Amino acid sequence: MDVHNVSLTISAVAPKQYPTTGYPELAFVGRSNVGKSSFTNTLINRKSFARTSSQPGKTQTLNFYNVEDQVYFVDVPGYGYAKVSRTEREKWGQMIETYLTDRTQLRGVVSLVDARHAPSEDDINMYNWLSYYDIPILVVATKADKIARGKWNKAESIIKKALEFNDANSDFLMFSAVTKDGKAEAWDWIEARMAE
Ligand code: GDP
Repeated sequence: MDVHNVSLTISAVAPKQYPTTGYPELAFVGRSNVGKSSFTNTLINRKSFARTSSQPGKTQTLNFYNVEDQVYFVDVPGYGYAKVSRTEREKWGQMIETYLTDRTQLRGVVSLVDARHAPSEDDINMYNWLSYYDIPILVVATKADKIARGKWNKAESIIKKALEFNDANSDFLMFSAVTKDGKAEAWDWIEARMAE
């Protein structure tokens, strides 16, 4: 998609605030600092639109970005916040779970992991959970420019093995916000989900 117009429709703290326009939605998940904002900004051709590095401890919101009046990118703030209280985290987890399981507009989830490391326990839990609910998943391995191309296959197999990657409901790609590798493939995946 050739993107020119993007706006933040709402930073929602409760379901009643979610948009009612009915556009398809793609949710982006990953731990903070994984490169989620950079990924989003790359897709929408902006340098700094989506917030970079949302701060731990801040009010956590589901951010709905309207892209060209055709699709919402839903930024799900990074999991693995140590600084929020357990009650807060449980409340937050509940809101995300409800969104991911009940939202009829949701067409798929982009799950971001760091290409340089094996997925964290949170990454694995999220992947298992999404698989269980049969939600189409695109695993995006970020910061691919930080590893030599000759090692990309190795990185991919480490990640897939740890996730017990299932080709039936998941796709995988290496991505770099620096070189834009993976950008076209990410859009292909998103557009395919939008058309479903
Ligand atoms: P977020 O917290 O998941 O939204 O992560 P950010 O997008 O803010 O990225 C965290 C840090 O990683 C920042 O310093 C980015 O510049 C850096 N970063 C993100 N993506 C890439 C990438 O593809 N390549 C490189 N080299 N650095 C990246």
